[in-house]
This record gives sequence, C-alpha cells and structure tokens, in this order.
Amino acid sequence: MAVDASSSSSSAKRPAYHLATELVHIDSDAVKDNYNAASVPIYQTATFKQQDADGSGGQYDYSRSGNPTRTAVEVHMAKIMSAERAFVVSTGMTALDVILRLVKTGQEVIAGDDLYGGTNRLLTYVSQFNGVKVHNVDTTDPTKVEEKLDPIKTRLVLLESPTNPMIKIADIRTIADKVHDICPSALVVVDNTMMSPYLQNTLEMGVDIEYHSGTKYLSGHHDLMAGVIGCRTKEVGDLLYFVINASGSGLGPLDSWLLLRGVKTLGIRMEKQQSNAIQIADFLEAQGLKVHYPGLKSNPQYELHKSLSSGPGAVLSFETGDVGLSERIVESARLWGISVSFGCVNSLISMPCKMSHASIPAEVRKQRQLPEDLIRLCVGIEHVEDLINDLTNALEIAGISVKQPVSN
Ligand SMILES: *Cc1c(COP(=O)(O)O)cnc(C)c1O
Repeated sequence: MAVDASSSSSSAKRPAYHLATELVHIDSDAVKDNYNAASVPIYQTATFKQQDADGSGGQYDYSRSGNPTRTAVEVHMAKIMSAERAFVVSTGMTALDVILRLVKTGQEVIAGDDLYGGTNRLLTYVSQFNGVKVHNVDTTDPTKVEEKLDPIKTRLVLLESPTNPMIKIADIRTIADKVHDICPSALVVVDNTMMSPYLQNTLEMGVDIEYHSGTKYLSGHHDLMAGVIGCRTKEVGDLLYFVINASGSGLGPLDSWLLLRGVKTLGIRMEKQQSNAIQIADFLEAQGLKVHYPGLKSNPQYELHKSLSSGPGAVLSFETGDVGLSERIVESARLWGISVSFGCVNSLISMPCKMSHASIPAEVRKQRQLPEDLIRLCVGIEHVEDLINDLTNALEIAGISVKQPVSN
C-alpha cells in the first residue's frame, strides 16, 4: 500500500524568500518527472501500477489516496501557508466539511455571527443531524468567545477575519491564546479566504488549522473550485488526511494543476486588487456612504487589522440606507459584474442579503444586524479610473449626486 502518498510536509518552516517569490517557485523535488517538464505534469490517472504482488514499491497506488499533481500543489501550499502539512480538496465547503468531521456528537463549536452563507448552512446541518452544539457569537469581542468556552465540550473555535460581508476583525491571536489556555484539546480554525496567505498567516499566530476556498484568490480566475487546508501539527495533519482519504474529497489532477498555475500570480494580483480597493474605499467614503473596509483610517479596527495582516485586501462593503437605492446602484453598474464570490481578476458587485447570504434566514440576518441594503464590492485588477467612473455613473443613475469624482 502506498500509505499516505500525498504526504506534503514542508521541510522549511519559514519561507526563505518573500512570499511573492515563493509563490512563483514550485519545489521541483515534490514530483519526480522523467522528462524534466518545466510545468508540473497533470497525472490524469486513477490508479498506478505496482511492482510487486503485495502492492509495495510505488509511492502512489490510487488517486483517492494520493496523486502526484495533487502532491505538488499540497507541498506548494504548505510552503506558502507555513503549514506543517497542507491538503487540497474539491471546494472550500469540502475543506470545512473535512474539518467538522473532527467534531464528535456532544462536542461543541464556537463560530462567528457574520459568517460566509455556506458555512452557516453546513454548521446548521451539523447541529441538526450530528448532535453538535454550535454557538454563534460576535467574534470581534474575545470575551464573547471566552464565555462559551468549555474545557470538556469545546472542540472547534471557527473564525473569519475580516468577516464577510460586514468586514469586521477578530483578534485571532488573543482568541487563539485564550482557547488554548482554557481548552487544551480544542482546535482554533480560521477561514482565511478573504485575506489569502499573501496577506495573513494565521498558523504563525498559533491557529491550529487554516483553510481557504481556493475558488477565490488562490486560483484567481473563477475557472475552478477548490479548498485548501493547512495545519500546524503532524497529529492534526494525520486526522485530516484520514478523513480526506476515507471520504474521497481530494482535489482531482486537472483542478490541482489549475490551482498550482493560478496561485503563482497571487502576489501580483492581490497587490493590484488591494491598491484599487483602497482608492475605491476612499472614493465611497468621500460620498458620505458608510464604508466597511479595514484599510480606512476611520475604521475603528484599523490598528487591530494592521497588527494581524500585511494589508486590508480587496473586498469592501458599504451601506446606502435604502434597499431600493442599493438595487438601482448594483443594476446600473456596467463594468462591475453582478455575481457572488470574490477573488477573481475582474470586479464584482453584489447585495449579500439577496445573493451570497440569502441562505441565512431573514430573521437571523436581522438578529445579526446584517443590513439589507448592504452592497459588497470585490475589486479586480482593472484600471482604477474605469472602476471609479463606472461606480460614479451607477451612483448618479440611482439618484446620488457624486461629490468628488476622484477620477480626473
Ligand atoms: C467561497 C467561500 C467559501 C466556500 O468555498 P467554495 O469553494 O465556494 O466551496 C468559504 N468561505 C469563504 C469566506 C468564502 O468566501
């Protein structure tokens, strides 16, 4: 048996170069290729021939258990995330599903109250079908998390920072320390999709498991779905590998290859998207709109975010005070595509309560103070003047007179 064929420990704990450099360079030892191919080959195969009747000899035997193209991207992701080990699975939700299998009936999960819609849906399922109690608390206040910690029952503490779509910041370091103090057997898990490993490394803050929707920034072109999980210890890595191998949730060879190709340009994409987002946030704030973005000095959590991350990212949201007004703005934009999701090279606009977060019941949205008029912008790599001009147009068509067009 090719046991643990997808083993992907990163030999170097700390990247030797800047992340932008590490992203581009794939460790050529991860996959032995007979022809010295410059690009990692796509091993589109379910099985691997064995040398001996007892099945020994090969590093791989069956692609559910391990595949060389998947190994290449897992080794690369482990390096980028400073993880002991990383795994790639079929979607971001699969990543969470794999992690949630570490929770037994009777154990508890503490999660945020401004979560990704799909995360909310899966947690609801787990609480209804698996007998797992889920506490949703305001994770921007570490004492709210502390109140729910139970040394026996708490198994997972699940954080997003910034949250989506309200872009609130959780003090990941403080919470991770508190959880480990009070509940030594609990795991701190961060959905780091919004920041990407380029801007925020949570494993280095003491988090146990960091996961991503690879569908977003990591791949960057909305042409594949993937999930990435990185962990800090070998023990947790072994548990996660067991679930992935047992359930068959590993990413297929072609998608693994696409993810590996996409992630090489994460640095340059994120730099451009973020610089566009900063200018757009300034423009919207100058209109007197209530803008949620940790890159704005007016944001009360500006300093906290800065202490956790190397940048504010490229997702922001704003309120107009009126659902109809928001709808007119969204529908009047031309360059900004109306779509869920983020992290793609092109810019997107959406109304979370009607789209990505519509699976959260209206009364729960209200309880969690999710404004129905909220507009979310996911900023791409286009020329920033075109993006601001298009927003100016949309705001004016919707009935807002734009005060200071930044685009000259
Ligand atoms: C998109 C997203 C997910 C889910 O990932 P999929 O790849 O769509 O399954 C989870 N968390 C966040 C923050 C996301 O944006």
